[in-house]
Amino acid sequence: MTEPLSFVCPRCAAQVDEQFYGPCGSCRADLRAKFLGVGRVVELAEYVPKMNVTPNAVALKDD
Ligand SMILES: [Zn+2]
Repeated sequence: MTEPLSFVCPRCAAQVDEQFYGPCGSCRADLRAKFLGVGRVVELAEYVPKMNVTPNAVALKDD
């Protein structure tokens, strides 16, 4: 186990204890939410047409 580092978050300037130097936990959650938000929009845009295609393909097969 690595000793946590005490430093000032480079993003929000809060005093934090983290395993690695970088954005603190809440900043990482914030950044992750932004990245996931962007990723989710792209994923959804690709996913929705697939969802529409699949039931039709299944329905055609069943008929
Ligand atoms: Zn921070």
